[in-house]
Amino acid sequence: MKRKPHNIFAAFSIILIIISFISFLVIKENNLQKKESSFFKKITPSNNNIDFEKLSPLEKDIWDKFQEIPKSEYNTKYEEIAENNRVLLNISSKENNIGAYILKIVLNSGELSPKAKLFILNKLRVLDASSGNIVDSIKITMESLNLAEELNSESDIVKAKIALSSIFNSLGGHESSIKILQDIDIENKNFPGVSRVTISLYLYLAENYGFLNNTTEGFKYLNKITPLITDECGEYKKNILILKNLLEARLYIILDDQEAALKCLNTANQLLANLEKAFFTDLKTLRLLTLESYYLKYNSLKFSPNSIKNFIKNTNYHGDITFLKIAFNLLFQYYYETKDFEEYTKLAKSYDSYLAEVNLANNKVFTMYLIENLENEYFSKENEKLYRNIFLLILLMVLILGVSYKRMLYLDKKSKVDALTTIGNRLAFKEDFNFLKGNNYCMLLFDIDNFKKINDTYGHEFGDEVLSTIGKILKTIENKEISIYRIGGEEFAIIFTHFNESFAMESCEYIRKSVENIHWKYPITVTISGGFAKSMENIYAECDKRLYKAKGSGKNMIIYQDINEGDV
Ligand code: GH3
Ligand code: MG
Ligand code: MG
Repeated sequence: MKRKPHNIFAAFSIILIIISFISFLVIKENNLQKKESSFFKKITPSNNNIDFEKLSPLEKDIWDKFQEIPKSEYNTKYEEIAENNRVLLNISSKENNIGAYILKIVLNSGELSPKAKLFILNKLRVLDASSGNIVDSIKITMESLNLAEELNSESDIVKAKIALSSIFNSLGGHESSIKILQDIDIENKNFPGVSRVTISLYLYLAENYGFLNNTTEGFKYLNKITPLITDECGEYKKNILILKNLLEARLYIILDDQEAALKCLNTANQLLANLEKAFFTDLKTLRLLTLESYYLKYNSLKFSPNSIKNFIKNTNYHGDITFLKIAFNLLFQYYYETKDFEEYTKLAKSYDSYLAEVNLANNKVFTMYLIENLENEYFSKENEKLYRNIFLLILLMVLILGVSYKRMLYLDKKSKVDALTTIGNRLAFKEDFNFLKGNNYCMLLFDIDNFKKINDTYGHEFGDEVLSTIGKILKTIENKEISIYRIGGEEFAIIFTHFNESFAMESCEYIRKSVENIHWKYPITVTISGGFAKSMENIYAECDKRLYKAKGSGKNMIIYQDINEGDV
């Protein structure tokens, strides 16, 4: 059945690619008249993002305290300001992030030395990590990298690169993320606190490899963490162990080692229950998705589609598509396995709109860059490489989305095809049937006669052969106005959309006779009985009624008229 193709996505992608290409040309052009200055000279704190009425007493207090500090003192008091903000780390909402807002004001005051700027940027990155504002995340990271290089601070360069890799990770660019992390060559670095940085680097590597289903490399990096955490203690160690166990559980699930996965999940759960301070923002999300993946695979009764649905509903970050993709995949798999095609179709629709939203957000990112590039006449040569990376990054994201969308369409299509006969299945029928509401069309429902006896006498395998052979006959009449479906065990439906009633009736008779005339490898004649009706309110019920009537009237026939009008 011809339906409107999903071409919104393609259109978006093309627009994005064109814009990115133009932006790249603009940058190149502008680079010819470059001056020595950092492109990311300001990170605009957007005033309209903060609703001062909605601040909690604690947040208000911090805001009031901050306002008492004169601008001229920012450069000496920046550490104190950041320290005051610390309590907000796990409290501030993504939308009304007063802590990040304060830091941005300090950052843009023009008062800070490079060292102070870098300090604030690092704090801002943590505070802003889950804001989902990909533009700000990229800006903050790039500016940190610039400053760290300017100040020649190895530890800050490494931290900024790890942050950059995590942006790639959150966009699904796992190979790129791994490349950045491996290029850091952490084993040959030595600066204060290198051990903790190394741990998080290995965790990221293991996570990325997990997403790529590469369990060997995943375990390799997780094992490298073990000797490093022996010296650690307290909450930090707990945090690392939780992440490590959850990532291990994911890897074991991939390897189908149920027992080991369960053990890791239990360990992580126990540690999480007693955790007082979270160092990582994703702990709970990772736990939820890992636990539900486990349930779906090994204990489907415990799988909770609702928690996943809630997660999707409450996650509005356009930046982090990795976790959302996992969540959507879990639900698709669940509905597919439980044959809940109604929910499956609903989910496919919400996935469509989610993708459209993501694309819209990305489109905005592009446009913003374009505008900022045009407005900003200062370009430094070193930054050219960074810009190229950003555009490649976003292009990559579009490609990744494209791939996952294609897979989705494939899954969607696969879910509507009957495996035995390769014609449309019940889900396809239901969708098309609903789609046709209010249109003029004819429909035939038919059922193979005495099929149970065929199965009982010649075996199930031969029964299958009968079904697939009838499927083949149906395929010979299928075209864009005739759609065929296997809607149940040995029940089929045909929808004729051209509404030439007599032609449709002739086609039905052709099918009935063709089936009757098939020579089987056993001495039998297979026949069908059907009910036919043209557009009417209860067309399905009517066809079914007539089919039933045909069965009661000796079978091997199709009834075309209202039963009350008399027998055929
Ligand atoms: P009637 O003429 O009244 O339709 O009788 P019937 O025996 O065809 O009707 P009934 O609905 O009782 O039997 C349908 C049988 O079809 C029961 C089931 O075992 C069989 N069946 C359903 N799906 C398949 C399948 O995929 N392959 C095979 N071989 N048999 C199937
Ligand atoms: Mg039947
Ligand atoms: Mg039957």
